[in-house]
Amino acid sequence: MANPEGVPNPGIIREPVKLSRAERVVGERLKEMVAKVERAEAAQKNFIFRIAQPLNDHEGGLLSRAKAYITEFFEKKFNQLGAKVAGDQGTESKGLQFDGKIGEVSCCAARRAMFNFKNECKPGEKIQAISEARRDQVDSGAFKKSYTESVGPCALCRDALSSLNKDAKVIQPIGGEVKTVPVSFIYPSRKFLAGEESMSDLEKEYRELLLAISKDFPITADDQMMIKKGERRLEDKVNSGPDEEVMLVAARGFSGETYTNTTPKLIRNPQSLVIDKPVEFQLVCESAENQDQVLTLIVFKGKREGSQQHTKKVMLPAGVSRELIRQFHPLATVIVDFGKDGLGKLPIEVLYPLVYKLRKRKNGNHF
Ligand SMILES: [Zn+2]
Repeated sequence: MANPEGVPNPGIIREPVKLSRAERVVGERLKEMVAKVERAEAAQKNFIFRIAQPLNDHEGGLLSRAKAYITEFFEKKFNQLGAKVAGDQGTESKGLQFDGKIGEVSCCAARRAMFNFKNECKPGEKIQAISEARRDQVDSGAFKKSYTESVGPCALCRDALSSLNKDAKVIQPIGGEVKTVPVSFIYPSRKFLAGEESMSDLEKEYRELLLAISKDFPITADDQMMIKKGERRLEDKVNSGPDEEVMLVAARGFSGETYTNTTPKLIRNPQSLVIDKPVEFQLVCESAENQDQVLTLIVFKGKREGSQQHTKKVMLPAGVSRELIRQFHPLATVIVDFGKDGLGKLPIEVLYPLVYKLRKRKNGNHF
């Protein structure tokens, strides 16, 4: 439908993928990439649909209480999210979204509930389940309707949760119903992919699936060069600096440009823990300043051990970076370490499957 000036409604001409000019030129190659990422997402989604569990009475109660909590404290455009966390020794904690208007000041409801749990739990108690709920209002003239729905955690909250208990169950909409899924399935960790921790049969099966998905994203000659460049820079940095851990990220942009970025060391402050942004976060911002987008990246952690020796590990982007990378380029891929199975490449969408994509029953084109 055209507006009075005859300009078509942008909603109708809008392309399914938000493309930059450079991407439009790439045309066919991009379509192929989209198809590959969609195949990967569909395979992961089918697995999660299969293993997701219906809520038991305790989890159902947690969801109801999360909904009641945000319903009580709801304030349009300010307090819209509330979360409840249950521990394995009976502690239940809550958290409201804090909207500080400036990104860094704000905090998700799910993380605030986790922080509160850390204050309130019994010694040794672990988080068993988390439920987050969102309330909103639809206003259209005389028609006014409020609703409260289950939502799932963002990448930062998944990061926090998986570091507290990788087996914690997330209550969220999955395939048209509210179900539970262990956080490690919606936020694969480095140790998980490397097969470094003890795993259930289901986890082993999931790891095999991610390994199979990675076969569709071969490491190219360009990737190899980027990895080598990163390794050389890491070695220089580790050998020239003090005996501190060094984080390094190497990336290829959509333009073909290669980037690297390091932290001199992991900046830790005993009062506020890590005060610096993850190195991959900085690199994504840096590439954006160059009007480029990160297409493939690898994160290393290195440390000097003795005069000529150093250790090197392939890491995964932190939660805040996974969130950022995906927003900048939904087709971005990450080089990951599959342990005895070597290096592989996975789409960022698989390392951070979005809640709204898991919510729907059917697969579709939604980038
Ligand atoms: Zn969050």
